[in-house]
Amino acid sequence: MRGQRTAIFPTRFLLVAATNPCPCGHAPSRRCRCREADLARHARRLSGPLLDRIDLLVYVQRPDAERLAQEPTASSETERARVTAARERQRERLDGTGATCNGHMDARLLRRHVRVSDDVERPLVDAYRRGELSARGRDRTLRLARTIADLAASDEVLREHVVAALGYRHEMSDGVGVAA
Ligand SMILES: [Zn+2]
Repeated sequence: MRGQRTAIFPTRFLLVAATNPCPCGHAPSRRCRCREADLARHARRLSGPLLDRIDLLVYVQRPDAERLAQEPTASSETERARVTAARERQRERLDGTGATCNGHMDARLLRRHVRVSDDVERPLVDAYRRGELSARGRDRTLRLARTIADLAASDEVLREHVVAALGYRHEMSDGVGVAA
């Protein structure tokens, strides 16, 4: 809204973002010369509510020299085929709902299409009780678990998929991390 005018823009988008671990970029190595206050200020720039809206948080560690010299473990071609197959599973499952992939499921669709047993959901319930997960975060994690299951060509969401999804919800309290 601006003045008397209102414009509505489509907001369905994919956000991929990265951040340095600290202002100098060298944390947590000894080369980091940042002061405590700089690190705290850096960490505060990504607020909890903002991070809660990001599905995957991945901390990328510096690969060692040997690893850098190796061939990549998966080719883009292989991964593309896996993602295409996973997308196709989602499209079929959500046929007729208006959603075409897991990321587009609202809470109602999520309840209907991602049914898990109490045992499978337990890690989510535990994390929620410990205060490590918001209600929104719990839905996001379940949605992500569905995607991880789709990538593994599994009809069922298993406990291992839920646990893997929880691993992508790192707290960035130490001020290091990459959000994607
Ligand atoms: Zn630093």
